[in-house]
Amino acid sequence: MSPRLWAAGAFVVLLVALAGFAAATVPWHRAPAPRADQLAALGQLPADQVARSRAFHAELRPASYGGMLLGLLVALALGLTPLGARLIELAGRPFGDHWLARAVLGGLAVALVAEVLSLPLAAWRHTVVARYGLSTQTWAAWSVDLLKSFGAGVVLGAIVLAGFFTVTHFAPRWWWAIGAAGAAGLVVLLSFVLPVVVEPIFNRFTPMPGGPLRAELLALAERDGVPVKDVLVADASRRTRAVNAYVSGFGPTRRIVVYDTMLTEATPGEVVSVAAHELGHAKDQDVLTGTVLSALGAAIAVVALYLLGSWQWLLRLAGVDSIAEPRAIGLLLAVTTVAGLVAGPAQSFVSRRVEARADTHALTLTGDAVTFEAMQRRLGTVNLSDPDPPSWEHAMFASHPSTVQRMAAARAWARGDR
Ligand SMILES: [Zn+2]
Repeated sequence: MSPRLWAAGAFVVLLVALAGFAAATVPWHRAPAPRADQLAALGQLPADQVARSRAFHAELRPASYGGMLLGLLVALALGLTPLGARLIELAGRPFGDHWLARAVLGGLAVALVAEVLSLPLAAWRHTVVARYGLSTQTWAAWSVDLLKSFGAGVVLGAIVLAGFFTVTHFAPRWWWAIGAAGAAGLVVLLSFVLPVVVEPIFNRFTPMPGGPLRAELLALAERDGVPVKDVLVADASRRTRAVNAYVSGFGPTRRIVVYDTMLTEATPGEVVSVAAHELGHAKDQDVLTGTVLSALGAAIAVVALYLLGSWQWLLRLAGVDSIAEPRAIGLLLAVTTVAGLVAGPAQSFVSRRVEARADTHALTLTGDAVTFEAMQRRLGTVNLSDPDPPSWEHAMFASHPSTVQRMAAARAWARGDR
């Protein structure tokens, strides 16, 4: 059997595994609460606040979608014309055209071009976010953040590029198998170490100070049967007024993180409600589920790239001989960018269902639908979320149910529709 046939077989097996795992772990049946409840919730939100958050999103849209479109065009220009291959040759020239220099320096050069071209639109977004008072960052602090994320990207990118092209170089026929296993392993490793290695680059995390709220949160976790060693507070206020909480990592790196803004903006009862939602994620192992889904997705992507590599028309467009050579990095960027845009809505859909389940968990654990709804209203108001966004935008990009959907879910739950 040829490597291609093996790859085709592996592709099908991985796809079936992904579909099976998703079918078993994603709570598909959690449809949003009735539209009548959503509209009732919307009607109770202050009209000026709704108008303000809608104006905010209307102003943000050109910069956001412009950035997305620009990213796609740059990727296509670098991948479906010989431009990317030329850029990579240039980057490798000072090092005698060595394949490793082309892979790492060429790959970083491609990423740098894409990053620099998208910078004006990112800056435009920041001006809107700052004008509406959501960002508390000066341009200097914003630039430092940008440099930090670029630095982290360079380190991670160099590791991935060097690893991937070492494999394609030394195993030209079977790189897809090693690459798929490596990609899946990297996703698992990153999910595990991100909270302890990368998140501290951007924020400081301190244990929530002792007091009635901390005691209540830990008691809540205990009652829920979720082992939580600590509740951490992130100094999010250095960058934003937005309130949030999240759970990340798993096993020994699992933590519940609450933004410091949450502690100043929300009532203790609302913080408890948010924490109960996060405990839902922990209890249902949502981080682990997401990690397994992403790992399978990454493995499928590598095998798909290998199979796509026999499409001569694509290789000719990019001016490369093989999809597994460093000169094809632009083509890889183009393919993964398009694949990311196509997979986005499916990922958002899964995410919204998982979030809805965590909401139900919070309602059941606290038994307090009134505070839950107040908390949703607070999150929406402070974060300037569009409480009831256009349905196409919601379907394509929303990772969470909308504010009115979450408020409506609380009302339905209180009525006994569970
Ligand atoms: Zn959540």
